[in-house]
Amino acid sequence: MAHPALKTVLNLFFKPECPLCGRPAETEFCRYCQTQLLRCQFPEGGEFPGDVPVFVWGRYGGALKRAIAALKYDGNPQIARQLGCWLADGWLGTQETLPKNLTVVPIPLHPDKLKKRGFNQAELLARGFCELTGLSLKPHGLERVRDTEALHGLSSAERQKNLQNALRVGKDRPPRPNSVLILDDIYTTGATVNAALRAFKTHRIPVAGVVALATTNTPPPRQRSRPKSH
Ligand SMILES: [Zn+2]
Repeated sequence: MAHPALKTVLNLFFKPECPLCGRPAETEFCRYCQTQLLRCQFPEGGEFPGDVPVFVWGRYGGALKRAIAALKYDGNPQIARQLGCWLADGWLGTQETLPKNLTVVPIPLHPDKLKKRGFNQAELLARGFCELTGLSLKPHGLERVRDTEALHGLSSAERQKNLQNALRVGKDRPPRPNSVLILDDIYTTGATVNAALRAFKTHRIPVAGVVALATTNTPPPRQRSRPKSH
């Protein structure tokens, strides 16, 4: 088996097989897996109310969970672009007008983790997202000052406490008067997002919302009613 770093490089140039099932694939995923992935999308849009609106594309499970694992742990950074485009397409569907003056900032990895993985999956998703939306991207708008990866198993309150000062605004800050759209791969307790909100608040940088690819949470039903089809 190829070294993960070598596999990462090879996968940037060759896409002979689907990273989820090994079948031949003409695009990032084979047709079977693409169908499975699109079934993970929340049909009514995954909007979560809160201090800032949170939009999540799909349910973290099945093919989408496998795709995120393939991206993060199995050296397949090339699939982030397609996933980022789907996220953008879903999010645009929830916007009344095409938003302007928004800068996308991905949640960063700790430098040690970045070195080990070779890429930040949230940044790659953000590139796909910005390609479709035309929004500007600041990959280093935030930086992680604490490694918080070892937080699995902690309670929500403990995670929150550990994460509070884990992020700070980086040198690559969004230009005024732009607001920030925070982007992450998985949205769970909101602890990471809260740490990001806190960091931006310290610098009086407005945050317009959060977008994420997947969540285990169930979105509340949409407010706007749609005519029923017969
Ligand atoms: Zn496949």
